[in-house]
Amino acid sequence: METFERHESNVRSYVRAFPEMFVSAKGSRLVGRSGRSYIDFFAGAGALNYGHNDEGMKRRLLDYVAGDGIAHSLDMATEAKAAFIERFHRVVLAPRGMAHKMLFPGPTGTNTVESALKLARKVTGRKKVVSFTNAFHGMTLGSLAVTGNAFKRDGAGLPLNDTFFMPYDGYMGEDFDTLAYFAQTLEDGGSGLDLPAACIVETVQGEGGINAASMAWLRRLQDICRRWEMLLIVDDVQAGCGRTGTFFSFEPAGLDPDIVCLSKSLSGYGLPMSLTLVKPEYDRFAPGEHNGTFRGNNHAFVTGTEALRFWEDDGLEKEVARKAETVRAGFARIAGMAGGLAPELRGRGLMQGIALNSGEAARAICTEAFRRGLVLETSGPDGEVVKCLCPLTISDEELRQGLAILEEAFATVAAGPVRTAA
Ligand code: PMP
Repeated sequence: METFERHESNVRSYVRAFPEMFVSAKGSRLVGRSGRSYIDFFAGAGALNYGHNDEGMKRRLLDYVAGDGIAHSLDMATEAKAAFIERFHRVVLAPRGMAHKMLFPGPTGTNTVESALKLARKVTGRKKVVSFTNAFHGMTLGSLAVTGNAFKRDGAGLPLNDTFFMPYDGYMGEDFDTLAYFAQTLEDGGSGLDLPAACIVETVQGEGGINAASMAWLRRLQDICRRWEMLLIVDDVQAGCGRTGTFFSFEPAGLDPDIVCLSKSLSGYGLPMSLTLVKPEYDRFAPGEHNGTFRGNNHAFVTGTEALRFWEDDGLEKEVARKAETVRAGFARIAGMAGGLAPELRGRGLMQGIALNSGEAARAICTEAFRRGLVLETSGPDGEVVKCLCPLTISDEELRQGLAILEEAFATVAAGPVRTAA
């Protein structure tokens, strides 16, 4: 640890929460130098939905590397890229009736968001983009401008302009119709809201506190976008690739977004890769108008193609639904014994959290859990939500063990002297 303390920037963060030198990982487990094995309920912040070092993906990657397959290619044609595009079209887009074009931006989540915002502004000729309270879309300036978190925004050092925040579903309490407010501001010439180019939304807010919008709310948001000819951008960077149970998180709502942002688990192996899906009528960048050196991560195409085997049938979907119930039941049991922390269950699929009345308590629970061999993180504006992002492929036994550790950690903190905000 001394190496990191001495040489690495102060900005490092997860290394502080998980003070262990990790040496290997398999499936839902991480192994530290001490030989200690940890259950992983963090899964690379959603980048490892299929677990660590999946055998099938590893084999394909090793063969590709051993055969001197192209590693880097910008956006030149490679067989690895063609194979990914074809399988993604056949397994994901075509069965869902999606005619979207595939735009490959730089390799990260914020790269796909930047491309989406830029394209929406170009297509509509308008500047403003509406995003929602507690949204998180990335750390580069455009993405940060549609991100709610004040601490992260302050880091920009510049005005973050041309965005407008509307209350997310539930933000004003259960009985407040947040979209009625949004719709009214659009109708009313005195609201001060210039007609936006687009709305960008997460169906479940990952970093913002595992807030899940209702399907009805999402459908109405789409209706509002259609009525005012604003593009609907779904940021599925964290909630996509099966995290909520279906490949795209918006499937149960029946949405037809104009632009979809994907990254994190797209390569399936933790390799950097992202993809912006764009309806053909909005595919309006001129050749090279948006680019990036690392759009062609062929190793990610190889593992990403293999990862799509999980979507050839509905096996994984069913598994996620079943495990989501296990998490829900485990969380309900935990919530029942942590009354003083005012626990509230949030999320859907394998993207669930327990919101508490204290960020300090949530952090203490994660620290306790880590001491007991479970890696998991907090989210929310004050870090007050303990969140479970276990691999979708986790075994029943590991899921049960992880929940048992979490229960112990909760019991320890709930019984202890941690100060609560209430
Ligand atoms: N959008 C969402 C919804 C995210 O959760 C994240 C990352 N947490 C991003 C965008 C940014 O992704 P990256 O960190 O790869 O830039």
